[in-house]
Amino acid sequence: MSEAADELANRRLEHPPSGRDTTGGPVDRVTGFYASLEPNLPKWVSDMYQSGDLAVGEEGLHIPDASCKIFPDDSHAIVITSGYLDLFQAVAGDLCAGVTHLSDGTILEPQLSPVDMVLRIASLLRQFRDKFLIDGHALDTYSLELSPNLQRLAHNLAMAAGLFAFAHELGHVGAKAKTVNNPGTSEEQDADIFAFTLLLAAAPRLNLGMSYAGALFSLRLHACLERAGFRFSDPSRSLQERVAWLKGGIRTKLSSGLIERNDFAWIEVVLDRFLAPVEKLLPALDQAQNPQNIL
Ligand SMILES: [Zn+2]
Repeated sequence: MSEAADELANRRLEHPPSGRDTTGGPVDRVTGFYASLEPNLPKWVSDMYQSGDLAVGEEGLHIPDASCKIFPDDSHAIVITSGYLDLFQAVAGDLCAGVTHLSDGTILEPQLSPVDMVLRIASLLRQFRDKFLIDGHALDTYSLELSPNLQRLAHNLAMAAGLFAFAHELGHVGAKAKTVNNPGTSEEQDADIFAFTLLLAAAPRLNLGMSYAGALFSLRLHACLERAGFRFSDPSRSLQERVAWLKGGIRTKLSSGLIERNDFAWIEVVLDRFLAPVEKLLPALDQAQNPQNIL
């Protein structure tokens, strides 16, 4: 057994993942991400995975994190915490509760006003940091009843965000193990390029609109969490640079038929409109709670 597989097995034993399937049975969501990308992975990735030199898995820690670690025997482990994936799910549910229309033009009766949604997500992130959560719900909020359609949308958005985070870490494996790099770019940018290229290769098998929504969601939530005081093992580069690059990349695909213009516009409206203000609001909420910080 490789050192990566050995350590991952021990970590999962110590912190069992919280992922559950529809029947309530335990499920490793990170292994699921690998399986959904598998048909489009470069051969070196599947070779590493099959030989055990690449171990991937979900670890049941509360703190949100996604990382790629290299071991002395040259094996690699990609680990995403259950807390991170659960948080994607909780925030996606709140986002879906506030949307006024879907990309196909369907008009919805939102359960939250834009202001309430921004406050609710900011409160959720702070309480998540302070570990005041019960079953994924912040103490000062009630759980929202989403229609089956919106529940599915929230679930797909959360899983697509996790998938992008996973694909980005695979890009780090490429950079470290296979020296996959492009002239004039950083390893962080190479990891994003790898992830984006992989998701393009997987389209239309994996809906490109949803992959793009997941990527933007993952980047924006990462920035919000950093503002809320979390520090990630994989620090990544600035949000503005990453978002601008991602949006530029997806715009070049608009005429390809792989992504609908309506979906593209809807994703930007929902994620930019609601998560950008959350990011700005978080430090202000902390100051309001601890007024001495203002002085
Ligand atoms: Zn990275």
